[in-house]
Amino acid sequence: MEWETVIGLEIHAQLATTSKIFSGASTAYGAKPNTQACAVDLGLPGVLPVLNGEVVKMAIKFGLAVNAEIGHESVFARKNYFYPDLPKGYQISQYELPIIGPGQISISPEEGVSKVIGITRAHLEEDAGKSLHDEFPNLTGIDLNRAGTPLLEIVSEPDMRSAKEAVAYARKIHALVQFLHICDGNMQEGSFRCDANVSIRPKGEAKLGTRTELKNINSFRFLERAINFEIERQIEVIEDGGEVVQETRLYDADKHETRSMRSKEEAFDYRYFPDPDLLPVLITAEDIEEIRATLPELPEQKRQRYIDELKLSDYNADLLSGSRATAEYFEQALAAAPKLADQLANWILGDLAGALNKSEATIDDSPIAPEQLAGLLERIADNTISGKIAKEVFEAMWNGEGSADDIIDKRGLKQITDSGAIEQLIDDVIANNPDQVEQFKAGKDKVLGFLVGQVMKQSKGKANPGQVNQMLRDKLK
Ligand code: ADP
Ligand code: MG
Repeated sequence: MEWETVIGLEIHAQLATTSKIFSGASTAYGAKPNTQACAVDLGLPGVLPVLNGEVVKMAIKFGLAVNAEIGHESVFARKNYFYPDLPKGYQISQYELPIIGPGQISISPEEGVSKVIGITRAHLEEDAGKSLHDEFPNLTGIDLNRAGTPLLEIVSEPDMRSAKEAVAYARKIHALVQFLHICDGNMQEGSFRCDANVSIRPKGEAKLGTRTELKNINSFRFLERAINFEIERQIEVIEDGGEVVQETRLYDADKHETRSMRSKEEAFDYRYFPDPDLLPVLITAEDIEEIRATLPELPEQKRQRYIDELKLSDYNADLLSGSRATAEYFEQALAAAPKLADQLANWILGDLAGALNKSEATIDDSPIAPEQLAGLLERIADNTISGKIAKEVFEAMWNGEGSADDIIDKRGLKQITDSGAIEQLIDDVIANNPDQVEQFKAGKDKVLGFLVGQVMKQSKGKANPGQVNQMLRDKLK
């Protein structure tokens, strides 16, 4: 039997506001437990929530970026359940009338392939607190600093057909919220979380299979692994004559498996109802246009501009526009060396990416600033150094030895273009390699490469290779 996988993702993006969604308490990460939860976050009697206008703007920015309908009237609802990290006994969320309606985003799971994924809705809600199970023996600690932190929950259609597509979609949303400056995207700190709904069905079948929901996934690598594990598990269950049960499963990265957390029978009945403490959010067409005017250039537009105006290859344009940090680095470097778009692209995606990878650093903490890299490429472009010497300068810059000019100066790396000096080297090489010279004169053209190599070696790589080639040829004629 051939099986088809069906995946839908629920993504929680923590909105990058300085204060909470319904109170003035700080949202800063890493504070001492319970120092950033005020009476509103705790749901003490007599308090009233006040909506933070910033979160509405952020949600609308997201909606516009995925071509979604923006709800002109959205309503906050109480989602009731009991849990120690939720002192109010309910979470304020949106249910029937979310702020963002249907939209879509296109993904590229592999080079040359593109696919549109539907976005069902995106709604605003508050986060709950955190239970700390490892701090005290036999006790659970509760930290309510996170209670009331604004979240945008982005729900996709069940449009993905493989773990790879799910990861491409999650990465695309991850990049987008960072381009929009509405979420810092930090998965380790939980600012960007993915739950994956997974089911299988016989290939060709239209009806959806029973799904499980995978939680506790905090990296793209784990997202791919968890989904692939779950697909295998479901196929095995069904092929063994069993049935997949609808349930929530936790992904355990250490054991690389998913295990049951709660089944449908234990699922909460949330008893949603509109929160009487909060007014409906009314958004006019004018509000939307005002926010549209503040949208930054989005990845798709950047990509197109890189191809059309900067003449970059599709491949390079794709990679550079794929993350906000990389695009910003590239554009800063380009501002310093406007004519060197292509060279910058190649160095950023080649040598710089390689060095960053090796030291497990991100481009945000690159020891080489964009302007410095631009400075280096300027020196290649004006023939001060060769591409080969540039690698040495790059390494020195990486180690903090200063600008390209400083390093070239200090190490005496300036390319020899003085033809008198090169001629001297050529004469030496001709005198020392009579056999090869004979062979060349006898018509063995390939030997020239060897002779050029000898001259380059004598110059410690500093002679201009093109010039050496030409002069050597002239001499041997
Ligand atoms: P809930 O709110 O109970 O989690 P939803 O109907 O809102 O349920 O669906 C949540 C997510 O699950 C959505 O992303 C949706 O696309 C996805 N989904 C729904 N049914 C299936 C299925 N049979 N297989 C895979 N994903 C599914
Ligand atoms: Mg769900």
